[in-house]
Amino acid sequence: MINPSKTRIWIGLDDTDTPDSGCTTATFDDLINSISHLPNFQVLERRLVRLWPFAERRTRGNGALSCIIECSSEAIADFEKILSSFFTNLEDSLKLHGKIDSRTSPALMYSFVEINEDLYWEAVRQKVEISDRIKKISGINKMTLNSEWGLIGASSAMAWKPHADSTWELVAWRYPKNVGRKRRISSSIVKEMELNHPETFVNRDPTKEKGLIAPRTPCPVLYGIRGSSSQAVLSAHEWLQSNPEVEKCQRFAIHRTNQLSDDHITGFSTSTVLTNPIETKGAHSSLEVIFMGSSKTLVAFKEGGEVNRLLRKLIPGDKISWMGLESPDGSIHLERLRVDSPVPRVTGRPVCCNNKTMRSAGNNQPLRCDFCPKIIEKHWQFKEIDLTDLELIGGWVEPPPSQRRHLSRPLSLGEPILSHSD
Ligand SMILES: [Zn+2]
Repeated sequence: MINPSKTRIWIGLDDTDTPDSGCTTATFDDLINSISHLPNFQVLERRLVRLWPFAERRTRGNGALSCIIECSSEAIADFEKILSSFFTNLEDSLKLHGKIDSRTSPALMYSFVEINEDLYWEAVRQKVEISDRIKKISGINKMTLNSEWGLIGASSAMAWKPHADSTWELVAWRYPKNVGRKRRISSSIVKEMELNHPETFVNRDPTKEKGLIAPRTPCPVLYGIRGSSSQAVLSAHEWLQSNPEVEKCQRFAIHRTNQLSDDHITGFSTSTVLTNPIETKGAHSSLEVIFMGSSKTLVAFKEGGEVNRLLRKLIPGDKISWMGLESPDGSIHLERLRVDSPVPRVTGRPVCCNNKTMRSAGNNQPLRCDFCPKIIEKHWQFKEIDLTDLELIGGWVEPPPSQRRHLSRPLSLGEPILSHSD
């Protein structure tokens, strides 16, 4: 039941960070603090929402923030006044520090009614045209600076509807005096935290013995702990902060998030491999598969670890399952891969005396033995293989944690669901 004397408000913020400093999460926390004295003020939930990873003008994370608050209905005029002056101050401070460039387009929005969830689904799966988005949000209060691009993230974050298995992220911010200095949080402490708090995840990349919770940029975030419940991330945070070797944070907040949801893709597909993999030196490998009746390019990046290694072993005829995100050039960037049924592999030419391979003198020449007069028609020998031969006992493979997208669900959290089959 909504208290009749209270008003519920959805607030969205995006793109207040700049390439070299700032962080939208901290600005959003400042914003919430600036309205926290309103009568009967309550934050119902904060949300951190990741959007389509290929969006233009965005970094790899592509995240935006929203929250749902309540306050006394009589305080609405004050609320609007505070938000407006907050945005003006943000503008002044960005300009003062020369932080406004064409890549920064802050947007702040608020609404007294819930926003259509379709706006979220559009922005997490595909490119959104700003002109189209502006039409769809014409009735919502908004403030923008520089350009209107930030409205896509702000409105999509407000439109997202969490569900039972949404994940959580606790973001802890640094004391301003520490910003710019090395963060005091060692990878061994992160490892211990993970062992003690099994409901947290993506804390480390075990393939590199590297902690993943602390950013590498000069932003004010000390760390972000991801987990399956708000209690799990809070308890891991308290455990970290009680350790004298860990840098003390100035403040923190818990966000519900769409991270690890796989919302950006529509389940896995099964396909037959059409071509051998092509390896681009040091960068990526790709091959063609049959997908929904036509040919589609699957791409695995060098950093994709096992996904890349497995793709390179595939040959035409192999039946595979895959998950990935369609890039603007139409190719699919693989996020998970599995071989379901491999075709027999060539093992080489037949052997004869002394266990030596028979050889051909050239085109249209038969195979001869170097040691006896035997001559046979040129052919290859094949071997039936099973998944063990491809070192695929585990089924699905995925990139290491440091290379996975925020939106991607790790295999440790369950098997992907089938979307298309050919
Ligand atoms: Zn022989």
